[in-house]
Amino acid sequence: MKLAMIGFGQAGGKIVDKFLEYDERHNSGIVRAAVAVNSAKADLMGLEHIPEEQRVLIGQARVKGHGVGADNELGAEVAEEDMDEIQGAIDGIPVHEVDAFLVVAGLGGGTGSGGAPVLAKHLKRIYTEPVYGLGVLPGSDEGGIYTLNAARSFQTFVRQVDNLLVFDNDSWRNSGESVQGGYDKINEEIVQRFGILFGAGELEGGEIAESVVDSSEIINTLSGGGVSTVGYAEEEVEATGGSSGGLLSRFTGGGGADELDSAHTTNRITSLVRKAALGRLTLPCEVQGTERALLVMAGPTEYLNRKGIERGRKWLEEQTGSMEVRGGDYPLQRGFVASCVLLSGVTNVPRIKELQQVAIEAQDNLDEIRDESEENLDGLVNDGEDELESLF
Ligand code: GDP
Repeated sequence: MKLAMIGFGQAGGKIVDKFLEYDERHNSGIVRAAVAVNSAKADLMGLEHIPEEQRVLIGQARVKGHGVGADNELGAEVAEEDMDEIQGAIDGIPVHEVDAFLVVAGLGGGTGSGGAPVLAKHLKRIYTEPVYGLGVLPGSDEGGIYTLNAARSFQTFVRQVDNLLVFDNDSWRNSGESVQGGYDKINEEIVQRFGILFGAGELEGGEIAESVVDSSEIINTLSGGGVSTVGYAEEEVEATGGSSGGLLSRFTGGGGADELDSAHTTNRITSLVRKAALGRLTLPCEVQGTERALLVMAGPTEYLNRKGIERGRKWLEEQTGSMEVRGGDYPLQRGFVASCVLLSGVTNVPRIKELQQVAIEAQDNLDEIRDESEENLDGLVNDGEDELESLF
């Protein structure tokens, strides 16, 4: 499907930049337009793929291009104040050609955390296209203020979008890596997963597929709101000839060798579906109880078959307990077969409960520290006996 992507804040901008790079590399056709919004000039300048005229600096009057410094209330305020400028960049998007908006932000910081929900609310008021969020949760080692920001932003963002897709940095960081190197890898993972998911329905070079996933299936799976997570698994295969070879081999079934091949193809698909749903999700959660799901099987057509996808889909129905599980192919001439599972409307998410708990503790601590520091300052400045008088 074709998306208008808006990256809010540093993480949001970098992730959208990566989506553009992915789109250019694979010609996947998912980024119809890209905009970056930030209150920090330096972050906007660091982007490589988003065109300069599509980068919007907000809050200049308040923070002079230096960012809001992890203050997400200020982030929300400057977004509200400078919405006209953001709208100016969005006016350049041919909205009639996009299937949906995707607002991307790290929820632990200031600009994206505060601004992304404000922008989502604005877009929903103006356009009829669905507005999705892609929210990144901070690592648990980032500290209380980031957790508090994320918990408040999550709560606000989810109410303003048609669906909030969540990626949890905490379950993806690798110890021993530099933060920057770590983020680069994490961003690759994000873009790979969501690139396959949203790429379904936008076929590279117009391949013919048995039961291709189209944009409306993605939209229907995401409709109804709530929180979503994505599972992904891939296996290397030899990319053979193009689509004609794939179709031919599919129609020549019946021989012993072909049947063996087809059993192997089916088994590969079902095992990839299990690995995707039971492995590391973008947001770890209980699969049981998911409201809706979508299975996208991507890869060279000769490695995809209807039987495998149907079995994988049925298995997902059993695991989720949902009656609304869609599935289909995404033919791609690449050297792997991949299973991408979108679980939409998940509710049993211990990670969110833990995040909220830590946020409440951080909020209480901050209030205490603020009160104490006011008292301490009073103690320092006053002379005790009130013998000195201040000037005015
Ligand atoms: P903002 O510019 O004020 O919106 O804040 P940032 O986007 O710099 O940071 C917000 C949060 O996003 C941080 O607490 C990190 O958890 C996360 N983050 C920052 N940069 C990246 C990135 O490149 N990739 C990912 N996945 N997360 C990031």
